[in-house]
Amino acid sequence: MLRAEAVMPGGVSSPVRAFKAVGGQPLFIASGRGATIRDIDGNRFIDYVMSWGPLVLGHAHPKVVEAVRKALRAGSSFGAPTLREVELAERIAAAMPAVEQVRFVNSGTEAVMSAVRLARAATGRPGIIKFDGCYHGHADALLVRAGSGAMTFGTPSSPGFAPAKRGVDVAEPERLRRGQAQAERCFAQAEPGVPADTARHTHVATFNDLGSVRQACESSAAEIAAIIVEPVAGNMGVVPPEPLFLAGLRDLADRRGMLLVFDEVMTGFRVARGGATARYGVRPDLVTLGKVIGGGLPVGAYGGRRDLMAMVSPAGPVYQAGTLSGNPLAMAAGIATLDVLAEPGAYEALEAKSRRLEAGLADAVAGAGAAARVQRVGSMMTLFFSAGPVTDCASAMRCDTDRFGRFFRGMLARGVYLPPSQFEAWFVSLAHGEAELARTIRAAREAMRESVG
Ligand code: PLP
Repeated sequence: MLRAEAVMPGGVSSPVRAFKAVGGQPLFIASGRGATIRDIDGNRFIDYVMSWGPLVLGHAHPKVVEAVRKALRAGSSFGAPTLREVELAERIAAAMPAVEQVRFVNSGTEAVMSAVRLARAATGRPGIIKFDGCYHGHADALLVRAGSGAMTFGTPSSPGFAPAKRGVDVAEPERLRRGQAQAERCFAQAEPGVPADTARHTHVATFNDLGSVRQACESSAAEIAAIIVEPVAGNMGVVPPEPLFLAGLRDLADRRGMLLVFDEVMTGFRVARGGATARYGVRPDLVTLGKVIGGGLPVGAYGGRRDLMAMVSPAGPVYQAGTLSGNPLAMAAGIATLDVLAEPGAYEALEAKSRRLEAGLADAVAGAGAAARVQRVGSMMTLFFSAGPVTDCASAMRCDTDRFGRFFRGMLARGVYLPPSQFEAWFVSLAHGEAELARTIRAAREAMRESVG
């Protein structure tokens, strides 16, 4: 770590990896296979980070490895059209009817940034509404009250933010400041590097609270280009949408001429083949994707209504480009991943494994008499150290993060690698077998007792 810290800020390439929220030193990973990873000291761990979501088949799946090897032998990048882009785009369009056309980029951040540009161009309006605790990548306009990493390390906040009805009120930061260092950082008013003029176009509403969205609209309806939402929030821990929340957003967007953007970077091909769009039956205008569609290689994509995508350059005037966009290795890994997921029973198996883990964790919580709960949608779940349900950012912030830190360290000591923050999703893959799940549950029973003891 000292060597890494000498040449890299905080010793890492992305903040949450640094273990700041849980204490201790991050693992340096040497290799992964199936559901397990091995660190550079030779220790093995059952992995629930799974590269933060892409590895729905597990590490180094033979079909993905073979597809990437074959693509690499044929040349790593051309900066010209290839058939693989068309093949992956066809698979995405077939699984997600809302995605009539798709543009590949290199990360989820780029996908959302580009979708927002398109929404602004299509409506001629500058504003966007996002939700407190949702993360959409680190583009300036979206790095406002932005979920786990930012909850831990500091978040620029829109000066135009008006406390939502059921949202965080201005007194709450004071309360949280006394109790939780993480919360203190979440409510930092500093805007390091994000111009106030950019942040003022981002309006923040409360997840699962349509009233707060109406309120944001009323203050600036004519100005709002789009509502952007993680349809299942994953970046404050897993928070499912309440019944009618997504449909309510659709209705509000329609009535006020705004676009609805589902950020499915995490949920796409994970909570269902057709993502949250299919699972909840609400059709957005634009969808952003990443993670699973790249099978562990760097990728992102945005897509949606054909008339909107027709505005993207060179078909239309909205410029967006990329040297490595549609990269053959990423396309190959994505195609191989989606093809394995298309095999009969894949999502049923993923659901069964995830249900088994959820039940085992709930038993561990009950056995220890802990004030904790598991929230799950498909193969995404979070064990919140909270007595009540977590429905939005404010309720997530009431979790006992010290206790989570103790639980995390107890699990790590027992060979289970969890996301190193209370406000993250754990990811189950098809490679997690009964042996790994049973071992995880045993470890959770012990670590849970330790964490409350
Ligand atoms: N959107 C969501 C919902 C995400 O979870 C993430 C990353 O975790 C992003 C966007 C940003 O994606 P990337 O890290 O590939 O830039």
